[in-house]
Amino acid sequence: MTTLKAVRGTRDLLPPETALWNRIEATARRVFARYNFGEIRTPVFEDTSLFARGVGEETDIVSKEMYSWEDRARAQSEKSQSLTLRPENTAGVVRAYIEHKLGETGQLQKLYYIGPQFRRERPQKGRYRQFSQIGAEVIGPPSAGSESPLRDAEVLEMLATLLDELGITGWQLHINSVGSSADRARYNDTLRAALVPLAHKMCADCQRRAVTNPLRVLDCKVPEDQPIIETLPKIADALDEDSKSHFAAVCAALDAASVLYTRNPRLVRGLDYYTRTTFEFTHGGLGAQNALLGGGRYDGLSEGIGGPKAPGIGFAMGEDRLVLTLQALNQGAAPPQVDAYIAPLGESLNPAALALARELRRAGLSVELGDGSFRLKKSFDAADKAARRIVILGEDELASGILTVKDFSTGIQSKVPRAELAAHLAQPAA
Ligand code: ATP
Ligand code: MG
Repeated sequence: MTTLKAVRGTRDLLPPETALWNRIEATARRVFARYNFGEIRTPVFEDTSLFARGVGEETDIVSKEMYSWEDRARAQSEKSQSLTLRPENTAGVVRAYIEHKLGETGQLQKLYYIGPQFRRERPQKGRYRQFSQIGAEVIGPPSAGSESPLRDAEVLEMLATLLDELGITGWQLHINSVGSSADRARYNDTLRAALVPLAHKMCADCQRRAVTNPLRVLDCKVPEDQPIIETLPKIADALDEDSKSHFAAVCAALDAASVLYTRNPRLVRGLDYYTRTTFEFTHGGLGAQNALLGGGRYDGLSEGIGGPKAPGIGFAMGEDRLVLTLQALNQGAAPPQVDAYIAPLGESLNPAALALARELRRAGLSVELGDGSFRLKKSFDAADKAARRIVILGEDELASGILTVKDFSTGIQSKVPRAELAAHLAQPAA
């Protein structure tokens, strides 16, 4: 029989690396709470048309990367339905916003999510078919201030704070404005015209995009196409006065908060729903897959999928890439050490050892439980790897209630009464 392996582009995450994932998620939750965000959990699969309409038919994601299937009807009363594993989470959040009429609260909704996303891409370092995103959205009716440039700046400032607290040094923030949908339509026409004499010199994707969605040409990563892209008209020149002043206000607020950024006129991002502010945080430690996160404003998304007017701004961070960056910065997780290893001296002491472990664990200590069938040498070796201290439990210790404890960092061996054991083990190792 062939051995079964995790599917190409998917991975098992094992300890101790999962400790790093947990630390990242705990830090994100803590920072989001400080900015008054609440968690939303949407289903992992949705109706395919949500992504077709919400993300855009012409995007790489929808045109070639989605895991979709026809879910057949199970009863006469049901219809078969095309379903898709979510390739991103913003469309699902906005669908939920509409479905639960969150706009009718009149409040700005500040929602974050953490979870797996699925795209059929070519797997490589930092690029997987199942990956995890940590993202957030600020969305609401215009009367709640959802269009304000202050919201954009606040989200960017929050991200700068989160990356700093995660210990990710050396990130770079790139921002741009892609304008209103009218600005984009105008710019798309300008770009289409400019691409007519140039497209045939570009990659196959760009030749297609030049016709269907010229804006996406700016997102091309093929090195040979870059000099041509440099010569194309800039979107900044196509913005109307409102979009220009919105962007200027975002920049002014970032300046006031001392958040460093670079204006990048080519940053258009891969999703069709963006309007006005778009941004990306990159990191040099990631190599080719250098984007830690991306996001932007999506003022027309809710209406685009049949909802009320609900402007919003959000981002998605690649959690896998946060992990890689922290590992590159030597901030990866070291194997954890438990507070104590209990070594029963003989199998007859196993029951008493379990009782002692229960007592200590209930007192909040982390404990590894040895087995009395081990020789003392084997117990010491196992304890030295796993724990800061070893607690020896023999017949004498059980009878007298005085336990032998050895601290591996100091080499000191001491006798500790059982009643004081938890407090003794709770002391930080020297
Ligand atoms: P990229 O340009 O790297 O393909 P993208 O523009 O497709 O990114 P988004 O859809 O905006 O990315 O997703 C936001 C973030 O999610 C990215 O910046 C990245 O960190 C992460 N990400 C996207 N696709 C993958 C993937 N296949 N594997 C791992 N992380 C991913
Ligand atoms: Mg991509």
